[in-house]
Amino acid sequence: MVSVSDAQAIILNLVQPLDCQRDTEVVDLLAADSRILAMPVTSPLDFPHWDNSAMDGYAVRYEDVQHSSAEQPAVLEIVEDIPAGYQPKSRIQSGEAARIFTGAVIPAGADTIVIQERTRREENRVFILAAPQPQEFVRHKASFYQAGTQLLPAGIKLNASEIAVLAAAQCPQLNVYRRPRVAIFSTGDELVTVDQPLQSGQIVDSNQYALAALVKESGAEPILLGIVKDDPVTLERVIAHAVAIADIVLSSGGVSVGDYDYVDKIIESLKAEIHIRSVEMRPGKPLTVATFPSTDAINRVSPHSALYFGLPGNPAAVLVTFWRFVLLAIKKLSGITEGWEPVFLKVRSHDELRSDGKRETYLWGKLHLINGVYEFHKAGGSHSSGNLINLAQTNALAVLPMGKTSIYPQEEVQVLQLSNG
Ligand code: AMP
Ligand code: MG
Repeated sequence: MVSVSDAQAIILNLVQPLDCQRDTEVVDLLAADSRILAMPVTSPLDFPHWDNSAMDGYAVRYEDVQHSSAEQPAVLEIVEDIPAGYQPKSRIQSGEAARIFTGAVIPAGADTIVIQERTRREENRVFILAAPQPQEFVRHKASFYQAGTQLLPAGIKLNASEIAVLAAAQCPQLNVYRRPRVAIFSTGDELVTVDQPLQSGQIVDSNQYALAALVKESGAEPILLGIVKDDPVTLERVIAHAVAIADIVLSSGGVSVGDYDYVDKIIESLKAEIHIRSVEMRPGKPLTVATFPSTDAINRVSPHSALYFGLPGNPAAVLVTFWRFVLLAIKKLSGITEGWEPVFLKVRSHDELRSDGKRETYLWGKLHLINGVYEFHKAGGSHSSGNLINLAQTNALAVLPMGKTSIYPQEEVQVLQLSNG
């Protein structure tokens, strides 16, 4: 049995990120949000592209207006109107100004913008009522970014701000990592699909649906292989197929010590190397982590070796082990270069939290903002790993480390923040 932190280290060490040459695809910018950039991007353009005005006002020569005041305004002749999107035609001479608008190109000869609120206009003349700072409200060419230097590094997730940058740099298409492929199946003779009538002793295979949603949310592609009976022959066939087609395989159930728990034996017979068999954690103790070598009896085409997670069968344990371990493996695999581990916050607990202290314990609940400070409220009802119902509408897991048997109301607790807030 390994500790939770050792399990995390072992898993991260096993994951090979996708290859930045081979495992990529080209996507249109409009389809690129939430994808992971596979190549750094440099722009051929300076930002701003040219000196332009940050305000509506008048483009002037600083030396003409440096002593202006309401009592003794400089008076300048307006020689041109420059709206955004137009190239100025004139060169501003001493005693002249151009009417200019936000984003418009600064005309030659001018070096400073006087905002219109500090001016008075009389026909073709403008009175400057206050002296500006030299070069005030000029956005200088290349002052934000110089052409040819790196704009975005590889290995970042593309969100709205990166998409905006790429659009401005005229990148209509991008090289991104392909989505990691995650095969999912459930094991158990008692399982039926959501639309099958329930006979006595049967339950719905909720894990398959939960894992499909979690995998999609993580940016990976779920490949659903359905329900597999507790039958070693069928299980072996499905596992061999799953590791051949996927980067990561998630099975649920069949990893405990019961007579029908075959998963570990079968993956061993398929020459997998088992790195973790159980973790000092509640829920989620029975957890198998194994790798399948690329050159084995099952004819894998991919040079990557598949990473196998045999998750526990209990529905709450499946969600908790996914959030705690599987997600970081998918993130590292996906090509993201940092931030793989879950985010933990230190907050106050509203309720008393209890554990037997023997394993690191995860209790689900909700983070509430109370006067701008987060507080953890434990979900009501049973925290049995078989109870799925009170996990709905939660957004955090409180963590009691090993040896800690209780946390009192208002005491600080570490919580793992979930994305489904
Ligand atoms: P196992 O690890 O196979 O012994 O399963 C542990 C518990 O989880 C049993 O009560 C199973 O009925 C339940 N279980 C296993 N697989 C699933 C599943 N796919 N969906 C919902 N419950 C499951
Ligand atoms: Mg089972």
